[in-house]
Amino acid sequence: MKRMLFIIPWSEFYIGNTDCNFTDEPERAPEGVVGLATYLKAHGILVKIADMQRMLRCNKGDDNQTLNDLWSICQSFNPEVIGFSFFTARFQYASHIFKYITGRFQKKKLERPLMIAGGVHPTLLPENTLSYIPFDAVIIGEGEIPLLQLLSGVRMEKIKGVFFLGKLSMEKADVISNLDELPFPDWNLVDKEFYTQPSHQISNTDIHKVMPITFGRGCMYRCNFCAHNCFLYARCHSSEYFINKMKWVSHQCGVDTFIVQDSSIGNFRDIWSEVCIKLIKLGTPYKWWANLRVNQVDENFLRLLKQAGCIKLFFGFKSGSQHILDKMNKRITVEQCRQTALLCHKIGIPFYSSYIVNYFDETEEDLELTAQLILETKPTSLAINIFSPVPGSIDYDKNISIIEPYIKNIHDWTKLGMLNLPLLFGNMSQERFGYWYNYLRNLKKYINAHETIIGK
Ligand code: SF4
Repeated sequence: MKRMLFIIPWSEFYIGNTDCNFTDEPERAPEGVVGLATYLKAHGILVKIADMQRMLRCNKGDDNQTLNDLWSICQSFNPEVIGFSFFTARFQYASHIFKYITGRFQKKKLERPLMIAGGVHPTLLPENTLSYIPFDAVIIGEGEIPLLQLLSGVRMEKIKGVFFLGKLSMEKADVISNLDELPFPDWNLVDKEFYTQPSHQISNTDIHKVMPITFGRGCMYRCNFCAHNCFLYARCHSSEYFINKMKWVSHQCGVDTFIVQDSSIGNFRDIWSEVCIKLIKLGTPYKWWANLRVNQVDENFLRLLKQAGCIKLFFGFKSGSQHILDKMNKRITVEQCRQTALLCHKIGIPFYSSYIVNYFDETEEDLELTAQLILETKPTSLAINIFSPVPGSIDYDKNISIIEPYIKNIHDWTKLGMLNLPLLFGNMSQERFGYWYNYLRNLKKYINAHETIIGK
């Protein structure tokens, strides 16, 4: 039987961090990799996941110990294929771990397994990935079909979605169009006790034992700053499958609270309404948090969500300035944000609103409008994110010439992934931008909102 080891690299935040309790610094369980590994397992592949972020945290930030632990896993499991999955913010750590692992194989004069990469960064920038890390190949797009072919012995050059230096064509992988064909995730492949520790993942006032659960992949919108749908086309599970998946994860992990992973439950509103009706018939056994676009909101829908167990909604309000929203191609209005907030307050659904600042041509007047919208809408949780064009987004493609001079090494890619490049896109000085950023973040005090920083 073929053996594949998945490696999830750690993020910068936890290196040397000896004191981060899960309640206040929760971690979203890696459903993507677990789902992929489960799929391969269901097809007869022996799989293992080295979840290095969890390992690093459990080792109190000791990265050397964590690498030693990884080597022990490699020795005992003896994989034929090692697959790294990472996004841009973890690119540099993937490189570090790759060097360590290949070095250990070399030192011991052992045959090295096939080393491949997948996930967001390798998919979006396959050649860039290979220019920094000499993987044998990268997977472009969703991994189920190409990985299964690879592990079944199909030659790499024949597999759509597998790219390596010297291959002439670069195509995205074929995808499983009916998501209901996927097996339910086997959470025993990672340390589920770690991920189900009670935390403030959903609320700053209450703690929940919570697990993520995917309803759909992709998004039918194309906001200029977002990379969400660059390689996924929008589709979702049937309501029946999804309810059974909730039951499965609840039973396997001992949780009754979920974070629904989807770009917006309103993208497939009819199917999500069916999910709600079925949950209500079951006696509303679960609590859940989901993303929703403000242009998909109305009172009846919100009431249905609440009755079906919704305890929080996430909205990307993004800006209080209509011209900035239009520039983002967000396809919502400031008025829709206001109405959504009013309805949430009326019906009693806590909500999270996220904003982007430093967008192209943004002026102080635009930021003043954003401040007004925050004060007016009084979100339960607030995030103010500094804009930086991320790979895979339209904004990135249009502005490569501006970004490239700032990226001189792999560490700069991490900065880009963490939205930390020192690029000013708005129409104001650095000093004025600093003032506005702090001012907006401080507004949480006046509306009693919990601030959430995204991007660890
Ligand atoms: S920001 Fe949200 S709605 Fe817009 S493309 Fe991304 S996931 Fe879709």
